[in-house]
Amino acid sequence: MTYSIVAILRDISLKNVTLSSNLNYGKAIYERGAIELVKMNDSEIEILVGGLAGKSIEGGGSKRRVRFWLEKDQLSWRCTGNPKDHEIFCKHCVAATLFLKDESKKKI
Ligand SMILES: [Zn+2]
Repeated sequence: MTYSIVAILRDISLKNVTLSSNLNYGKAIYERGAIELVKMNDSEIEILVGGLAGKSIEGGGSKRRVRFWLEKDQLSWRCTGNPKDHEIFCKHCVAATLFLKDESKKKI
């Protein structure tokens, strides 16, 4: 059974995959609208996140490219701000996920 990547991200519990600080920072980025969808299909999503002025808690920070994809039906992610082989679910991943959750609600 194929389960689309948007559905996986829509149902993900952010509290279970990230730290509360990343959750807060990511929320701030999303609320300030610093999200740019680059590519989206059933198996891959690419989003540019961030690039705002201010402190981290205000959503400030560099612009990063976040990619979500499926690998053997498992969610994988990569943010250009993360060190190689250290794939934390960072604030950019959080902001991108919040955006996708809201977008998928609009379509229902
Ligand atoms: Zn990041």
